[in-house]
Amino acid sequence: MSITEFDLIKRYFAVGKVSRNDVILGIGDDGAVLQVPHGKELVVSIDTLVAGIHFPEDTDPESIGYKAIAVNLSDMAAMGAEPAWATLSLTLPEADHNWLRAFSQGFFDLADQFNVQLVGGDTCRGPLSVTVQLHGFVNTGEALRRDTARPGDLIYVTGTLGDAGLALAIKQGKFAALQKGYEYLLQRLDRPVPRISEGLGLHGVAHAVIDISDGLASDLGHIIEASHVGATLYAGKIPVSPVFESYRKVIGENTWIDMAISSGDDYELCFTINPESQDMLHKRLPNIRYTNIGEINTSSGLRCVLENGYELVPASSGYDHFRGQ
Ligand code: ADP
Ligand code: MG
Repeated sequence: MSITEFDLIKRYFAVGKVSRNDVILGIGDDGAVLQVPHGKELVVSIDTLVAGIHFPEDTDPESIGYKAIAVNLSDMAAMGAEPAWATLSLTLPEADHNWLRAFSQGFFDLADQFNVQLVGGDTCRGPLSVTVQLHGFVNTGEALRRDTARPGDLIYVTGTLGDAGLALAIKQGKFAALQKGYEYLLQRLDRPVPRISEGLGLHGVAHAVIDISDGLASDLGHIIEASHVGATLYAGKIPVSPVFESYRKVIGENTWIDMAISSGDDYELCFTINPESQDMLHKRLPNIRYTNIGEINTSSGLRCVLENGYELVPASSGYDHFRGQ
């Protein structure tokens, strides 16, 4: 069935349930007209997902739609921002209705849940690529940043690490899946839960915050570089899921823990706090697991200490698109 570009937009993208009163003009004109609330600053982030690079070619379209917005929500969480508006630039090989229906479903599942309104975008033909830009608000001067860690701070992460990296490694045939738990790992890869309420809860508590998209070692590396500090991580404290734990023997101790520290796509938050703020932290993050995994110091670089006292040099310091060029 052929469809015009305009019909396609109307059918699949002008269908969100969210109607915000700070959207003066949404989808349909040459540009959106938006009102930033008084006393707020605008936080903007953008991420592109390219088939074969950011997700395997065979990923189901609903998960692609979900993840395209999830990775941007994760950036909003790391800034302590309340998400508000999205724009979507979509390049498609063809107008496949089943694909578009599922993609749109995954996208709006999450957008609606976080009160995000899709206010515009662009649609064209070419190799599959999805770009989402998100806009959110913080109180003036209160954005959470990565350049504000201080020596003596404790380092924390939310949730558990390594599940998504393990799912990808299994998909790529590097390890065989164990009988139990593979579905859980895939869920963690395809459907990361953005830590928006946790990001909002960290205002006035956290010194520095980043989201873990490229792997803990790499992203904590960004905090210490931007903040001009060093850090020590304790491998034995890294929180992992029971399913991830069950792969310990199969993968081999050092590679296994390195996977939790180095692999990407976790979309958890890594943050630092003054040790005296621990009580306040407990009140601010009541509904989620969070773990102290190390501390910020005045050395340079990142040290990762194993339980036997030896140091682990992470095999990879995160995914870098231009490495080796
Ligand atoms: P123009 O030719 O003026 O750039 P387009 O034909 O590209 O406009 O888009 C028409 C309207 O539909 C615009 O408001 C645009 O923001 C919106 N739009 C286009 N593609 C998408 C999309 N994938 N998701 C949401 N809105 C879209
Ligand atoms: Mg256009």
